[in-house]
Amino acid sequence: MRIGHGYDVHRLTEGRALVLGGVTIPWNLGLLGHSDADVLTHAVMDALLGAAGLGDIGQHFPDSDPAYRGISSITLLRQVVSLLREHRFWVGNLDATIVAQQPKLAPYLPGMRRNLAMCLGLPEERINLKATTEEGLGFTGTGQGMAAHAVVLLKEASD
Ligand code: MG
Repeated sequence: MRIGHGYDVHRLTEGRALVLGGVTIPWNLGLLGHSDADVLTHAVMDALLGAAGLGDIGQHFPDSDPAYRGISSITLLRQVVSLLREHRFWVGNLDATIVAQQPKLAPYLPGMRRNLAMCLGLPEERINLKATTEEGLGFTGTGQGMAAHAVVLLKEASD
């Protein structure tokens, strides 16, 4: 088994869609970034790449590359999963936390879980998603941005 950790932050701004785990959430602010800025999916990809010893998403999908402008992070996650398969890694489980003061994310977590399960080729019970606030403290608490943490286990094919 190998463990990987991912962490990501994006700034909140007007005029952008709020996309988390591939779910578009109705809100007056969205996350700023070169892709769709899906902070949860970015943290998940970094955890997967980290566990595999394959670097990070900045190396695989540089934000200087116009090919990735506005791209769905779920599409990028599928590419990361293919890369893991090529290296003969299988995902054991995923646990992730979104840090956001607003909006209330609980109603959207099942949809995010379904999307991530589909991408990772995992039953949903192997995926756990949580959302928390930071009690009004720091950049998430004041609504300047959102953060996400993810931890995964990978299994290495033994033969
Ligand atoms: Mg990011």
